[in-house]
Amino acid sequence: MKRSVMNMAENSGRNPKILIVDDIPVNVELQKTYLLSAGYSVVVAGDGEKAMELVAEEKPDLVLLDVMMPKLNGFEVCEKIKSNPATRFIPVVLVTALQEVEDKVRGIEAGADDFISKPFNKMELMARVKSLLRIKLLHDQLEEKIVLLNEARDQLEKLASTDGLTGLYNHRYFKEQLRHEVDRATRHNSPLSLLMMDIDFFKYYNDHQGHPAGDEVLRQIAQLILKNLRKIDVAARYGGEEFAVILPETDSESAVVVAEKIRSFVQQTGFIKEENQPNGCLTLSIGIANFPEDTREGRDLVNIADRRLYKAKQAGRNTLVCD
Ligand code: GH3
Ligand code: MG
Ligand code: MG
Repeated sequence: MKRSVMNMAENSGRNPKILIVDDIPVNVELQKTYLLSAGYSVVVAGDGEKAMELVAEEKPDLVLLDVMMPKLNGFEVCEKIKSNPATRFIPVVLVTALQEVEDKVRGIEAGADDFISKPFNKMELMARVKSLLRIKLLHDQLEEKIVLLNEARDQLEKLASTDGLTGLYNHRYFKEQLRHEVDRATRHNSPLSLLMMDIDFFKYYNDHQGHPAGDEVLRQIAQLILKNLRKIDVAARYGGEEFAVILPETDSESAVVVAEKIRSFVQQTGFIKEENQPNGCLTLSIGIANFPEDTREGRDLVNIADRRLYKAKQAGRNTLVCD
């Protein structure tokens, strides 16, 4: 017996903890002696209300619950434990002098996992405790695994929607969000703007300063973009040195203000060795499109913003075009 308790303790990282609930001290003492000698840790409640407190505070691995108690009786305590999602997996053994079938039925209805009759037999008590704790341990291990799995799933989801270099959303997630935001704008009859931005003469920068320096610029510009956005805006790395931003609930005039802020921020930021660039510093060109002014289709929104970005390049770069 001791050996298996120790195995369990090793697995779960602690000795199983058992809550004894009984209003008669000699009953408590007897059960406590048995359980302590088998290596379990024990907490004691003298009535149903105290039992509920200790269930919440101590999170026992099993409850030995006397049925006949003043105030809250054992059935009621059992029902409360089993109706709370946080405690319903704690095994409850009803300890009862009652022999009537009706009482057993009442106990089963209350959600009891097992019964033991008073006066109890030590071997029987210990055998029932041991077998229920084994199930409880399996349940706890399963829950731990579920928590780990959920964490892993969240991390995977984040990875799958994030661009590794800049930490912005990636192209795939951007497309999903654009569809989503266009649907929402359609439903709510609200405007939405899209910015397509491309770094000017970036090939030149890479060729002269090296790829790692280019990567650093991409990271810095991503942060500059984020700094100028609201929480509800969606900033993505659309391609190599191209960024896309969805501005929900934003008309074209407000979009121009945001785009101009980003453009001038990038122009004013001092990047390493940018003075060697053809136009004297690192800059952005920006194309802007608006829903519903320009189109009501998500895909057209991208095409229109892209065409305007091209126009901005033709116009000499470091500028924005919105029509
Ligand atoms: P334009 O002003 O017309 O946009 O000229 P550009 O040189 O910026 O445009 P082009 O499309 O000719 O070159 C884009 C360059 O962006 C090519 C490539 O070296 C660089 N680039 C794309 N992705 C990355 C990346 O992940 N890291 C780095 N360092 N450079 C990249
Ligand atoms: Mg470029
Ligand atoms: Mg480009």
